[in-house]
Amino acid sequence: MQLTCSIIANKITNKKLLQTQAFIDGQWCEANSGQRFTVSNPANGAPLAEVSDLGTDEVLQAISAAERAWPNWRAHTGKERGAILRRWFELILAAKEDLAILMTAEQGKPLNEARGEVLYGASFVEWFAEEAKRLYGDIIPAHGRDKRLMVLKQPIGVAAAITPWNFPIAMITRKVAPALAAGCPVVIKPSELTPLSALALAKLAQEAGFPDGVFNVVTSTNAPEVGRILCADSRVRKLSFTGSTPVGKLLAQQCAANVKKVSLELGGNAPFIVFDDADLDAAVVGAMVSKFRNAGQTCVCTNRIFVQENVYEAFAEKFRVAVEALKTGNGADEGVEIGPLIDERALAKVESLVADALENGATLLTGGKRFSAVSNGYQPTVLSNVNNQMRIAQEEIFGPVATLIPFQSESEVIAMANDTPSGLAAYFYARDIGRVWRVSEALEYGMVGVNEGIISTEVAPFGGIKESGLGREGSKYGIDDYVELKYICLGLG
Ligand code: NAD
Repeated sequence: MQLTCSIIANKITNKKLLQTQAFIDGQWCEANSGQRFTVSNPANGAPLAEVSDLGTDEVLQAISAAERAWPNWRAHTGKERGAILRRWFELILAAKEDLAILMTAEQGKPLNEARGEVLYGASFVEWFAEEAKRLYGDIIPAHGRDKRLMVLKQPIGVAAAITPWNFPIAMITRKVAPALAAGCPVVIKPSELTPLSALALAKLAQEAGFPDGVFNVVTSTNAPEVGRILCADSRVRKLSFTGSTPVGKLLAQQCAANVKKVSLELGGNAPFIVFDDADLDAAVVGAMVSKFRNAGQTCVCTNRIFVQENVYEAFAEKFRVAVEALKTGNGADEGVEIGPLIDERALAKVESLVADALENGATLLTGGKRFSAVSNGYQPTVLSNVNNQMRIAQEEIFGPVATLIPFQSESEVIAMANDTPSGLAAYFYARDIGRVWRVSEALEYGMVGVNEGIISTEVAPFGGIKESGLGREGSKYGIDDYVELKYICLGLG
């Protein structure tokens, strides 16, 4: 902890949240090698902390600890597990401001969004604290008079979670809360860019009273090696990953070797369709939140805005005005709406996509440059006359750039919207009820927002189809990924 920079230490009330060591078997521990890595503030490059950089042996220790903890954890009643989760939830809520400050420091998102993420992340813990008591099985009407058939839901075993930097708290709680509720101990590998939020969550989990070995966090810069171990070790019965599609595919391949169960939450390429019967002002509001949250760095962010020709100019003008009103700057400053991108590489990718679109005939309505108040800042940008075949329409932008694509008919726009290997979130604005049904059903996506730009909630299933992933998180379905169904056939003799 002494290696944590005073910049954040001075801003945080509960200094115990600033942990820089890994958390294994109820203990805070260094890497065996003694190595550490630096976590930096993306807004200015300032070093924030030096975090333990674990190697293979420590990851294996974490798996062993979780395996040892499993019999006792699964033997807890659902009510007992739920009570500890509930305490964790309450501690997260009580630490909301500190967690938000920490998250903004290492991730860059505006403080208000960080506060929102803490609440969103905590909501999964609350939800699954309740669901722990409702892991019902089934009695099946038997196929013979002398038999009784039932189905039990049993915890799958040690669950590993590999999580990204863009939601440093919520992506962890969305996996870990259902796993813990079901009776599975967890080994979490957070992004090396945002480990401080994960370690703060571990501190609160420790205070909540999870038994030793039930909650483990392994921090490392060698993600491929940690991933390889978690996939190869047959004591890990389940891997849940949120991150980029190429890494998800690699992990799925690695898990195939021992037929490990996998959940994947991968990249998206969300269409946002504005039909000519839409309420254009509402559509602008929806497009703003679904495009520019977290500076465009969310998997459900709008990537392509399709606008019907006869309302195209009107929408484009209202949208441009709204985008130009966004306040850019350091996310730690109150009122800032667009903070830095996570790093220089992300910035370079956004620049290259914008340059490619402009070379291929798109026009710039606003933005298109870096802003200098922070490192890695990119202006909120709108490109008009984009074509669905351009790179910027086919790749995940992951930055504050909106692309406007004109269309004529419903069938044309559905074909364009579905013309991508991704299938996570889609949005559309329309008022005709027949159209609302037709388009909702025709979009090949796991989630559809109709006249809504923000759809994520703990009470509904989050997840994608096609190359956007496998499995669902949140809701009554989210716990299913952490249980095995066991069928018991009882002969009455
Ligand atoms: P990433 O794939 O680079 O990293 C995600 C995690 O995987 C990190 O912890 C990283 O250290 C680890 N990792 C990297 N290479 C690995 C390897 N070879 N083996 C094992 N682990 C490895 O993704 P990112 O840049 O951190 O996150 C952005 C991506 O995540 C975007 O594509 C975004 O759409 C996606 N995402 C999806 C969802 C969803 O729910 N579908 C949510 C958030 C983010």
